[in-house]
Amino acid sequence: MNLVLFGPPGVGKGTQGERFSSEHGMSHLAMGDILRAAVRDETGAGKQARAYMDAGKLVPDALVVSMIEDRMAADAAAGFLLDGFPRNVAQAEALDAMLARHGLTLDKVVFMDAPESHLLERLSGRLVCRACGFGFHRHYSPPREAGRCDRCGGELSQREDDREDVVVHRLHVYNEQTEPLVAYYRGKAGFIKLDASGEMQAVYTALKEAVEG
Ligand code: AMP
Repeated sequence: MNLVLFGPPGVGKGTQGERFSSEHGMSHLAMGDILRAAVRDETGAGKQARAYMDAGKLVPDALVVSMIEDRMAADAAAGFLLDGFPRNVAQAEALDAMLARHGLTLDKVVFMDAPESHLLERLSGRLVCRACGFGFHRHYSPPREAGRCDRCGGELSQREDDREDVVVHRLHVYNEQTEPLVAYYRGKAGFIKLDASGEMQAVYTALKEAVEG
């Protein structure tokens, strides 16, 4: 099974995508995570991407398309869940071409949506482990010990681009560039719109029913 999850920042793509892909034995291809790893490892791509990410802008299409194609080709056998790619119509067209080149298809494209007030609350409380990348939320899923990751004991911190000024810009970029994907995918086979404003478990149940049902 090959899936795309898209939606605004803070809607829960990472949390839901991680759980769904691990329960279904699929590869979770999270573009933001792939980019953050490249920045951390100071690869050529990471050096090019960093300034865009810090400013809450989209990284140039050519760079993300080549990074995702490498990973997709390597992970296609298990099936994959794309999270955070595509993020504009040009990337969606590049994805269609890429899938055709590799003889692959998308089974479902899930659009997760929630009101902006929810997104701001989720993003402002988000904490991420510096060591393993696992996510927490100050109120909704706090770590057992303040500031420490439950999984690996690493230090928790706020993502640079979750600062309020950057978040406002990321939401603007979403409305301008990513939201038009709804029109691109609506009407194509496998398109699903999911209300992601509820609590984590309820959204997960709805996601499973929508994809499996
Ligand atoms: P995320 O973790 O999905 O919120 O992504 C964090 C940042 O990585 C975004 O604000 C962008 O700067 C960059 N990014 C992630 N996915 C893409 C993409 N498909 N195209 C361009 N930039 C991306």
